[in-house]
Amino acid sequence: MTRFPRQDYAQLTPYDPDRKPVAVDLSDNSNLWGPNPAALEAVRQAPLEALTRYPSVYATELKAAVAQKYGVPVDAVTTGCGSDDILDSVCRAAVFPPGLMTFPAPSFSMAEVFARMNGLEARALPWSRAEVDPARLLLDEPDIIYLCRPNNPTGRSIPRDWILGLLALGGPDGPVVVLDEAYGDFADDSFLRDAPNTDRLLVVRTLSKLYGLAGLRVGFAVGPSTLVQEVEKSRGPYKVSQLGALAAVAALGDISGWADGIRHRTLQNRDRLAAELRSRGLQPPPSQANFLLVPVEPAGAVEVNDALRERGVATRPFPQLPELGEALRVTIGPWEQMEIFLSALDELLQP
Ligand SMILES: *Cc1c(COP(=O)(O)O)cnc(C)c1O
Repeated sequence: MTRFPRQDYAQLTPYDPDRKPVAVDLSDNSNLWGPNPAALEAVRQAPLEALTRYPSVYATELKAAVAQKYGVPVDAVTTGCGSDDILDSVCRAAVFPPGLMTFPAPSFSMAEVFARMNGLEARALPWSRAEVDPARLLLDEPDIIYLCRPNNPTGRSIPRDWILGLLALGGPDGPVVVLDEAYGDFADDSFLRDAPNTDRLLVVRTLSKLYGLAGLRVGFAVGPSTLVQEVEKSRGPYKVSQLGALAAVAALGDISGWADGIRHRTLQNRDRLAAELRSRGLQPPPSQANFLLVPVEPAGAVEVNDALRERGVATRPFPQLPELGEALRVTIGPWEQMEIFLSALDELLQP
């Protein structure tokens, strides 16, 4: 048997979101108002050593900024080259392969990819079944459970009690629970402060969405120090670039009210867009994130997205979502962009 290429990589394909440039890009949930101004200023003022010298090995200052902002101990914090890096690292840290990740579906597609990249099997359970009883996610004795709250691509949150129930079921010997709060900055509540006092909960956050720093690739996570330590071992040194760290520290420490303002405008435009869509007979489910999922049946999601692209607007198509069918995920941004999306959509819906 040949050792290369790895057999379990045969079904893996490189990530390929359709990233052709387009006038109005509502496809990736990044901040369409622009980056955090304090972060931008920090990048502009960065010393030349920020480029020539290596950054902090484990992003000491960034960890301190996270600990300060969220009131958690520094040793409960880890960081990464985007939160993707942490999702990847925890798969290695928590499991000696082969192993199993379970997750309710639909959810963030990359979670499954990170599991498989690291020699784990990923097994989906439909949300409707998982929701009835969190114990169903434990039935196959997984090593990791991945949850996204609010969920990508549906925008839905998970009741707090449901999560607490799941954690209680697992106990100290249960699976590691990875709670992806990429959209936690837009949601009603968070598990960030709870995580350090749990046995196995890792709450993962990103600066790519609300803070507008997707290009700099900065994420962090909070959990019990024992788990965080293992994640750092599997993550390795120098993962947050110096410019990324400077910008992230400035963004998290920014007390100008910028982030609250963006959050407020996002929620306002999200509700306004939802109302506009409902007036057209479309039914986006309630969202706690900076996007709406828009079911488009009987039309096909890919076809509608292609037609929108011809009109200069990109969304993220989700064909054949379990229980939701054909849908587009639409990032919320400045109202002018929402209007361009709506008029392009109106052209398509015209009988
Ligand atoms: C965008 C997103 C991420 C990735 O964030 P990065 O920090 O840019 O790597 C992770 N999880 C979910 C659910 C996301 O939507």
